Formats: sequence, C-alpha cells, structure tokens
Amino acid sequence: MEGYAWTMVRELVLVGGGHSHVQVLKSLAAEPIPGFRVTVVVDTPIAVYSGMVPGFVAGQYEMHDLQIDVQALADRAGARTVVALATSIDSARRHVVLADEAPLPFDVASVNIGSTVAGLDLPGIRQFALPTRPIGDLVHHIDTLITGLREETERDAFRIVVVGGGAGGVEMAFTLQERISNEFDGALTVQLVHSGVRLMQGYPPGLARRIHRHAERRGIQIEAERRVVGADEGAVRFETGDPIAFDALIWVVGAASHAFFRDSDLPTDARGFVRTRSSLQIQSDDALFAAGDCATLDEFPDTPKAGVYAVRQGPVLTRNLRAVAAGTDLESYRPQSDFLTLLNLGDGTALGAKWRRTFEGRWVMWLKDRIDRNFMRRFQDSGT
Ligand SMILES: Cc1cc2nc3c(=O)[nH]c(=O)nc-3n(C[C@H](O)[C@H](O)[C@H](O)COP(=O)(O)OP(=O)(O)OC[C@H]3O[C@@H](n4cnc5c(N)ncnc54)[C@H](O)[C@@H]3O)c2cc1C
Repeated sequence: MEGYAWTMVRELVLVGGGHSHVQVLKSLAAEPIPGFRVTVVVDTPIAVYSGMVPGFVAGQYEMHDLQIDVQALADRAGARTVVALATSIDSARRHVVLADEAPLPFDVASVNIGSTVAGLDLPGIRQFALPTRPIGDLVHHIDTLITGLREETERDAFRIVVVGGGAGGVEMAFTLQERISNEFDGALTVQLVHSGVRLMQGYPPGLARRIHRHAERRGIQIEAERRVVGADEGAVRFETGDPIAFDALIWVVGAASHAFFRDSDLPTDARGFVRTRSSLQIQSDDALFAAGDCATLDEFPDTPKAGVYAVRQGPVLTRNLRAVAAGTDLESYRPQSDFLTLLNLGDGTALGAKWRRTFEGRWVMWLKDRIDRNFMRRFQDSGT
C-alpha cells in the first residue's frame, strides 16, 4: 500500500513476576525491544523477595523492604500489566490461558512463576499448616500471628513446629524463635523436624554442626528422620513416633511444580517442572522460555530450586529474548557450581557456607543484609 508505513507488532508475554522477569523489565525500561509489545501477567502486582523474609520474621525489616512493585517496573518498561492467574500455555494455539479472562496471544513468551511447596496434599496440611508459599501470603500470616500473640494476655505457652530441614526451615525456626520470644512473655517451644538423616543435605556437614550448636544454645529442639504423614488440629503426625502438639505449624518442605505445566502442552521432568535448554528456551519450542524455580535445565537437572539461580538467569534470559527478536544467536546459561549460602539466625548473626567452608557471626549477617538490600535497591528505586 503506497505511502503507508506498515510494521508488524509482535507480542512478548512474560508470565510471572519472579527474580528473572523483574530484570527483563528493568532492562526493557532502559532499552525496549523494537517491534515488540510487552505484556506481563502476574497473579499479584507485588512480588516478595524471599531472601529477606526470614529477616522480616525476625523483625529486622518492614514489609515494604521485601516488596517489588512489578506493575511499576512494567509501567516504566512501557509494558502492559495483566493481573490474573495464568493457568497454562497452549503452545499449539500460541496463547497463554488465564483464569476468568480471555487468553493472551503471544509470538514469544517466557515463564517465571516460581514453585509451590511439596506435601500440601498430605491430610490436614492445607487446613492446619502455614506453608511458605505463596510467599506473599506467608508474610501476611506471620504478621497476623505475631500481632495476635502480642494481644493475647491470657496465653502462657506457645508451641511452634517447623517442618523442613533445608535453608528455609532452619531460618524460619531461628527467626520465629527470636521474634516471638521478644514479643511474648509466656513459655515458647520451637521444634524443627525433618525427614532426612541430617539437616541441610547437600551443604557442607560443618553447616549442620553449627546449626545444631546454635539450636542447643537457644533451646530449639531438632529431630531428624521424622517424616510427616498428616496433621490434625493442634498436632502433627509422623510415619514413626509420637505426634507433636503445636499452636503453629510452619511448612517448609521444599519446592514442587505449580499445576501450570501439568495443564500445558509442554515437556516436563518427573517432578512436573518444564524442561529447558541451556538457552532457557523450553525444549519443544524456540519462542518459549522459562527461568527460575519453575524450569529444569536438561543439561543441569540437579540445579537447586533457589533464588540465586533465578537471579543469575535474568541477564541471560534478557539477552536471549532480544536475540530471538532480532534473529541473532542465543547464548548459553551455565549454573555456578556452588553459591554463597547465608542463613539468618534472627539475633543479628548469620551462618554461611561457600566452597565447602562454613563461617558465622555478625559480619556474616552484615554481608547478607548488604547483598539483599543491594539487590532490592535495583528494583525499588524509581529511576531506571
Ligand atoms: C522462606 C524462604 C526463604 C528463602 N530464602 C532464600 C535465600 O536466601 N536464597 C535463595 O537463593 N533462595 C531462597 N529461597 C528460595 C527462593 O524463594 C526461590 O528459589 C525463588 O523465589 C525462585 O524465584 P523465581 O524467580 O523462580 O520465582 P518467584 O520468586 O517465586 O516468583 C514467581 C512470581 O510469579 C508469580 N506467579 C506465580 N504463579 C503465577 C501464575 N500462575 N500466574 C501469574 N503469576 C504467577 C508470583 O506471584 C511471583 O511474583 C527461599 C524460599 C523460602 C520459602
């Protein structure tokens, strides 16, 4: 058509506001992808940074310190935000399926929706336990729990059982103990139970030894090889041994896949996480990407479901989305073989592990606070 400048606009849909997508949005605000209209689908416009949640539990941070306003980031990136639960991808029809809304067509899409907690289908767990996912809900429940306890003058004892022997479980046990003992005058019992033979499997054994030493000093009871089979009101039951009574049951047993991929026509691993190539493209489809907890890299299937990997994937995902748009070569992501683990003990100190060495102290907490705040500053400052 003479005199008519015609350009085809293509649709890029980002599903989820996880650690990788917030970096994509930050980059798009500085430099848009020519010819692409960008839409972000989030179930909630505010994302919560899990690394600072234990610090929030301990009373070291305010709620706003851990929050990333994904919608504001999208606005700055010139992207449209759709607040809706994405339920699946129909790759054959090229659209993202949303709960209660029309499907969203895409030319290129990327999924960064994180994970949920395993074991929620055990009897009584959904009903009586407080799961760590969705993490935004956890933060509000902890706030309510602590406010409630502060106002309860009649109660003279409170029993917390934390289930899960990984980093999240350990941090929740220590930070809850610190916070509640500061807010509540009665007798506080904190028990950390887990199904493994030792805490923090996959980390240097020295880290578990340090945790046990601190737990003993602070009166936190730890029990290994206690596999939960269910919960009733006020008591958690195990495969072997007596039930344990609780006033609050915190559920931190590791990552499981969202139903999203089960309902999509995409390849998944045995645990239901979507399978990706090192380029972060989903195995079956060059125009579909996935990053963070929700994806399993075929080349590195044992990569832990941890935020540090989702963070490191962010820049690679950004460059590869640009490359697909431009029709240029994609780069490969290779997970680091080890990462710095920092566990907040809630009392101003933290434990750390890196390269099979372990360490602890106030300086470790100082380091953790600095790393976390620096990460958050990138997404909370109003400019690009
Ligand atoms: C208590 C606790 C402490 C932790 N501490 C650490 C730590 O110190 N270091 C570390 O490396 N890891 C830590 N982790 C693990 C870490 O939280 C995850 O590995 C990390 O959040 C994964 O990031 P992600 O980008 O994949 O997804 P997420 O950060 O979970 O983000 C997913 C986003 O997608 C949105 N979303 C989800 N489903 C949908 C949907 N269907 N439709 C639309 N939007 C959706 C969510 O609202 C969210 O914004 C911790 C976990 C817990 C529970």
